[in-house]
Amino acid sequence: MAGIYIHIPFCKSRCIYCDFYSGTDFSFLNRYIDALCSEIAARKDYLNGATIETVYFGGGTPSVLSSKHFEQIFEALEVNFGLSHCQELTLEANPDDMSDAFFRSIAPFPFNRLSMGVQSFNDAHLRFLHRRHTSNEAKDAIVRAKRFGFDNISIDLMFGLPNQTIDDWQESLLQAIEHEVNHISAYHLIYEEGTPLWRMKEQGTVREIDEELSVRMFEVLIDTLTQNGFEHYEISNFALPEFRSRHNSSYWNATPYLGVGAAAHSYNGSERSYNVADTLRFCEAMEQGLDCYEIEHLFRSERYDDMVITALRTCEGLAIEKVRTLFGADYVDYLMQQAAPYLKSGQLRLTPTHLVLTRAGIFISDGIMSNLLRTE
Ligand code: SF4
Repeated sequence: MAGIYIHIPFCKSRCIYCDFYSGTDFSFLNRYIDALCSEIAARKDYLNGATIETVYFGGGTPSVLSSKHFEQIFEALEVNFGLSHCQELTLEANPDDMSDAFFRSIAPFPFNRLSMGVQSFNDAHLRFLHRRHTSNEAKDAIVRAKRFGFDNISIDLMFGLPNQTIDDWQESLLQAIEHEVNHISAYHLIYEEGTPLWRMKEQGTVREIDEELSVRMFEVLIDTLTQNGFEHYEISNFALPEFRSRHNSSYWNATPYLGVGAAAHSYNGSERSYNVADTLRFCEAMEQGLDCYEIEHLFRSERYDDMVITALRTCEGLAIEKVRTLFGADYVDYLMQQAAPYLKSGQLRLTPTHLVLTRAGIFISDGIMSNLLRTE
């Protein structure tokens, strides 16, 4: 079992908070798609023949691609990996792209899940973030997606925005529920260094909201969605029954995946590889038949750290026997010793098989996880 991630690093404009790798120069989009397909072919053995169960087109903005681009990519995937056992094919899409013509153009392809970058149903907040859509356009896009047969729709929402109130946040959540999306990924706004938003904070033109309000918003998020039938299955992810993201779950379960395209990452159980975060250099490397990635071999302690960080984010938590089998009894002893204060304080709990963050623990999850790690 394995997954494939396809990175499309093109956006019509840049949102002020974003530090994902993408650019606005579309002049070599065709060249990039050729290079992407070359990488798919060149790395066809990376997953050792594992069955591909999920494919995820992310970005950037994959919804800027034409049907010709999708045809080319799907042909490369089919020839080199085979998609006959693929259960989930997700396309990230921005609401402003989701016209009738867009849905007609993707109809020939096997996408069965849409992940929409809605971020907010408040127009003032959307303008502040430099999103290209309005709240009504986002709602129309959800309705249109359903009309064109998508019954598995995820949306991204953001909280912790400057001047956002609890009521604003709750209203966005209620709009999502009213529009019957199946999955919500909710992220606190982060002032990533180097972004326009970060510079605004440095210049004093925006202020971070205070921590108490952040915590309250997270509580409202959990309460509102769980009271409306969503399962809080990962710290930032909520799904109606049967609608968890298989692709993202595979990251948290340490399932191998191949990431293709500029800035994409891959993982095969023993090493991670990182593609060059430069579209032009990526194209040139592929055209010359060169590798375009750096490899990081993972030591036992790093693989343990990865497992702690990913598994503890999930509602199932960290399987103790898995730690023992993969890393040995000394790792379990260390884990339980480090976990003891949090078990005592009620921020972690122990089931018969797993170590799990409690609701109190979720709010300080980064601190807890860092104290369970082996490497500095
Ligand atoms: S948030 Fe999405 S649409 Fe906005 S710049 Fe980043 S990748 Fe592009």
